[in-house]
Amino acid sequence: MARIADLIAAGRTFSFEFFPPKSDMAQLTLGRTISELESLSPSFVSITYGAGGSTRQRTQQLVQWIRQETTINPMAHLTCQGHRRSEIFEILDSYASADVQNILALGGDAPADGSAEPSDYTYATDLLDDVLASGRFSVGVAAHPEVHPRSPSRESDRRFLAEKLRRADFAITQFFFEAEAYVRLVDELAALGVDKPVIPGIMPVTNKSQIERMAQLSGAAFPSWLAERLSTVDDPDDVRQVGVEVATELCARLLEAGAPGLHFYTLNRSTATREIYANLGLPVKG
Ligand SMILES: Cc1cc2nc3c(=O)[nH]c(=O)nc-3n(C[C@H](O)[C@H](O)[C@H](O)COP(=O)(O)OP(=O)(O)OC[C@H]3O[C@@H](n4cnc5c(N)ncnc54)[C@H](O)[C@@H]3O)c2cc1C
Repeated sequence: MARIADLIAAGRTFSFEFFPPKSDMAQLTLGRTISELESLSPSFVSITYGAGGSTRQRTQQLVQWIRQETTINPMAHLTCQGHRRSEIFEILDSYASADVQNILALGGDAPADGSAEPSDYTYATDLLDDVLASGRFSVGVAAHPEVHPRSPSRESDRRFLAEKLRRADFAITQFFFEAEAYVRLVDELAALGVDKPVIPGIMPVTNKSQIERMAQLSGAAFPSWLAERLSTVDDPDDVRQVGVEVATELCARLLEAGAPGLHFYTLNRSTATREIYANLGLPVKG
């Protein structure tokens, strides 16, 4: 198992994101996905963290299960939202005892139903400082190529991101569809004196209405050329095929531009990611 900072220093990383399943059926699907993706020898996988209660426990259980039962290196997401510092220290202790070595420190979002719990943290940097102070983890943060929806300006978005990334080991980006958005982000950080690794997040389109909704929520632009390409297909397999072609082109451009790795938002399915891997000629374990 390894710290992600060391893996990035040694070469490009290829990684996948999963979310904790909410039902027994979804759990079976994820189990199959993990076993199918294990053969791609990911550098690490990351597990998202929910808004509260039982979904948060499921994140911990899934991270620890992956650490113990597979050959894959897990990273746990953690958010500021609704957390006391004492709870964060307990969670960090439990990850350290399970030999989990990587944390993604995030702001999180208040639950849409207004049921937010009190929190000792406001911004991801506050949480980042506590995770770093524990001295036991390689720590990543989130970056938003097309600017975080709550940022009042591009300048303030980049300034706070630069501050965060100066302390963290690496960043992973929100998904986006134009390579220029990533290149511009990296250039803007460099202009602020920050050259820490920024791993682009890749979301292959597999469902037309779902991707438009997710893009709207995350602030990612949904370009007209992509809408046009998708307008020619309706069958789910055809939609996935277009999504895979588009994501393959994006990944190739990002690798050409010097990205330190690729992080795939899998939505707990393996097919699109495996197809992109094959298109890019990335190695697969025999
Ligand atoms: C790779 C990735 C993984 C994610 N995984 C999860 C997950 O597992 N669970 C989940 O709930 N969400 C997740 N998210 C979503 C994320 O929690 C939201 O986008 C959230 O709204 C912002 O998180 P952040 O870490 O960027 O927050 P922050 O860095 O705190 O930034 C949030 C906003 O506050 C501003 N800001 C930062 N610091 C300051 C300051 N000192 N003063 C004033 N303004 C400031 C920033 O510019 C930005 O506009 C993920 C996002 C990404 C990109």
